[in-house]
Amino acid sequence: MNRQSAVDHSDVLVLGGGVIGLSSALELLRAGRSVRVLEKNTVGAGASHGNCGTITPHLLPLAAPGTVAKGLRWLLKPDAPLRIAPKPDLALIRWLLAFSGHCNEREFRRAARVKTRLLLASRALLPELIAREKLDCEFVENGHLIAFRNPALLAKEAPTVALWRELGVHVEELDGAACRALEPALNDSIVGGWHHPDEAHLRPDRYVNELARAVRAHGGIITEHVQVTACERGGTHLQSVTTGVGRFTADTLVMALGAWTPGLGRQLGLRLPIQAGKGYSITYSRPENPPQLPLILEERSVCVSTWGSGYRLGSTMEFAGFDTTLNRRRLDALVRAAKEYLREPLGPGEEERWYGWRPMTPDDLPVIGRAPGIDNLVIATGHGMVGISLSAITGQLVSEIVCGKVPSIDLAPFSPQRFG
Ligand SMILES: Cc1cc2nc3c(=O)[nH]c(=O)nc-3n(C[C@H](O)[C@H](O)[C@H](O)COP(=O)(O)OP(=O)(O)OC[C@H]3O[C@@H](n4cnc5c(N)ncnc54)[C@H](O)[C@@H]3O)c2cc1C
Repeated sequence: MNRQSAVDHSDVLVLGGGVIGLSSALELLRAGRSVRVLEKNTVGAGASHGNCGTITPHLLPLAAPGTVAKGLRWLLKPDAPLRIAPKPDLALIRWLLAFSGHCNEREFRRAARVKTRLLLASRALLPELIAREKLDCEFVENGHLIAFRNPALLAKEAPTVALWRELGVHVEELDGAACRALEPALNDSIVGGWHHPDEAHLRPDRYVNELARAVRAHGGIITEHVQVTACERGGTHLQSVTTGVGRFTADTLVMALGAWTPGLGRQLGLRLPIQAGKGYSITYSRPENPPQLPLILEERSVCVSTWGSGYRLGSTMEFAGFDTTLNRRRLDALVRAAKEYLREPLGPGEEERWYGWRPMTPDDLPVIGRAPGIDNLVIATGHGMVGISLSAITGQLVSEIVCGKVPSIDLAPFSPQRFG
């Protein structure tokens, strides 16, 4: 883009061109607002690119009873699903303390209730969004299977099934033979599993590119390779943002910067305790006999997704700040897990090794709402492990907030004000 001379103004300026920024932009355009999206890289270059693309209302909050003990055990194993980099980082220590404060039965159940409600609402909206905008993103509604190899763990986790039923998430309990009958790609070591027949998946990089196409088709402007470097606040009003190509102003701004949100938030005096939860994936060309359903390989916390165009292994959670290295050990753990559970674990050709930073909050709930003390700023971030799943409802809620409508879901649990 050429250097701007005059200040550019739109009704709404969306900061961040990930799945959350683009979903918000699309719904705002449909509500009749003029919208510009500013993205420092290309759309979908952040966490929204190489993730597993599962649409999973069953995913309960990470902050749960037992998570801290499990995390401490995992810290001793360098290839475990969780890693915390051993370096002094005050913000991370504070975040971990706040996270452990949520790992009790009462907080977990409260968060599970509100998170599941949001996930189910988003799941219901997604097919309509994809059909209406003709998003070509390999969307398939054929369910999801969590596979176990350890019978003791399967028995121990039984209360989760009861909780899902209580929350309205459809689940069927299967023995090993039934898992293999449903998903013949699983090998004989599988002892049982949980089938979520109502879940779905899509190819996330395509979904994001298609959302961008829809935003442009509705008259939105997406300005790529433009980084927001500063925000100018005048009293309770956010007056403009500064970039390398000039200043932009808007009646309302939507901050959808994923894991990067706290940096600009701090400039505005906002306390947004979000840590980058680094995850990895390896994408292959499609195996001859791939799994038909998206899978969770439970003991290894690895996700497997198959599309017509490819095959992906993904997972792991690493708290190491914005570390840009591809940790070989963690990528190898994905391959090892696939070999333990699947008859044909890898695709014939490796296409991409990737990492992305999930925006993680200490209560594992997203942040959706008006920023405290700033009358024209809306925050939409902190979607953690379910940003693709929550994209449709987040776009709708952001549009409702900006347009002054009563939000279709109670936003109190997701308020940016909850961090004090
Ligand atoms: C391995 C892995 C697997 C996952 N699997 C799933 C899954 O199966 N299902 C699911 O629902 N979710 C999944 N997720 C989570 C999902 O990827 C995230 O929740 C989601 O992508 C977050 O979207 P976002 O738009 O908030 O952030 P991002 O996609 O990171 O977007 C933020 C954007 O802001 C831009 N930006 C940052 N700073 C600036 C600036 N100063 N100026 C301008 N632009 C800026 C960035 O370049 C980026 O494009 C997974 C994540 C990982 C890592």
